[in-house]
Amino acid sequence: MTLKLPIYFDNQASTPVDPRVLTAMLPYFTEHFGNPSSRSHAFGWVAEEAVERAREQVAALIGAKTPKEIVWTSGATEATNLAIKGAVEANKHGDRNHLITQKTEHKATLDTCKHLEKLGCSVTYLDVDAEGRVNPDDVRAAITDQTLLVSVMLANNEVGTVQPIAEIGRLCHERGVLFHCDAAQGVGKLPFDVEAMCVDLASISAHKIYGPKGVGALFVRNERPRVQLVAQIDGGGHERKMRSGTLNVPGIVGFGKACELCGLEMAEETRRIEALRDRLERGLFDNIDLLHVNGSRSHRLPGNLNVSFPYVEGESLMMALKDVAISSGSACTSASLEPSYVLRAMGVSDDLAHTSIRFGLGRFNTEEEVDHVVRLAIEKVRKLRDLSPLYEMAKEGIDLSKIEWNSPHHH
Ligand SMILES: *Cc1c(COP(=O)(O)O)cnc(C)c1O
Repeated sequence: MTLKLPIYFDNQASTPVDPRVLTAMLPYFTEHFGNPSSRSHAFGWVAEEAVERAREQVAALIGAKTPKEIVWTSGATEATNLAIKGAVEANKHGDRNHLITQKTEHKATLDTCKHLEKLGCSVTYLDVDAEGRVNPDDVRAAITDQTLLVSVMLANNEVGTVQPIAEIGRLCHERGVLFHCDAAQGVGKLPFDVEAMCVDLASISAHKIYGPKGVGALFVRNERPRVQLVAQIDGGGHERKMRSGTLNVPGIVGFGKACELCGLEMAEETRRIEALRDRLERGLFDNIDLLHVNGSRSHRLPGNLNVSFPYVEGESLMMALKDVAISSGSACTSASLEPSYVLRAMGVSDDLAHTSIRFGLGRFNTEEEVDHVVRLAIEKVRKLRDLSPLYEMAKEGIDLSKIEWNSPHHH
């Protein structure tokens, strides 16, 4: 089989729609185009039936007790905004205005928290360890009588680190604090059960699990406790008054199908993708010296590999690997390369962060692709390092940290 280029190794950014998902969606663009809110004719009933079937499929994947607990949104970003802002607004006459989260959350959570700080909430941003994990004891210690909600993600989108969700959920419930989990990255790839893990609110997204973009859901616990949210989008009272707007029926049908497939195939798929990731990791580490894994080897998303290639700029390596879709640990801003805030929170030096690459393997990747990328990376890293005087010095055993630079040096 010939290799098709470019190769997609960026499945943490988004995933292709599974052909089986697309097949399920297609009729809902054409013959079944009705508005599920139309109660007076069959076009509406057919659409509504499809939406309710999808609700059951999503609920089943995350262990929700009833499909009523699923609220459709445009994605995990909107779900997270609704969860946190909606909970704060529902409690504004209460005495709880303190939120707890952690520093490597997705911007959907961090920016929502920052917004709420401006409106008078106080937010604790917990540190993570070198692997990117929060310590449940730190969560326990941060909870006060004012704490309304704790928000910790299931798995990180950059380094793949999986958080101790069940422990955090248990202690939140003991203290009567709401627990929100951004599960966008972990759901469908790792066991996730809102009952077993005491999760009250969970954000998920179709396009991270081989469904379409622009559709997601918020799980909102209905019992013990019954979570109250104030809608952030008004206009007709759809979705049990929590999120108005005509539903994206084809997207929702695709999301449901994507969840069903994950539920059926997760165990086998995880093994396969983990084996591919390990093959990639071994191929790189056996052939390139001084590499460094960012994140956790024991608590990590199956398809994720985040590696620093010292003495090679991540941006240069990405350019050299232009037939491979990957992403780097620096974000290009107008003036400079900002190292990733996630790596920074883990204590990774700016130097190492600038050399980091995220490989995200998924359902449709193959061994041939992995072997090709390994060969290519070995060749390109050698070339780039041959140009690096620092690499030469490091190989000669000179301790670069002891050198006194007499001009502003590399980052
Ligand atoms: C992708 C992602 C989001 C955002 O989801 P959208 O559906 O694209 O809005 C939020 N959190 C995490 C961890 C993600 O990976």
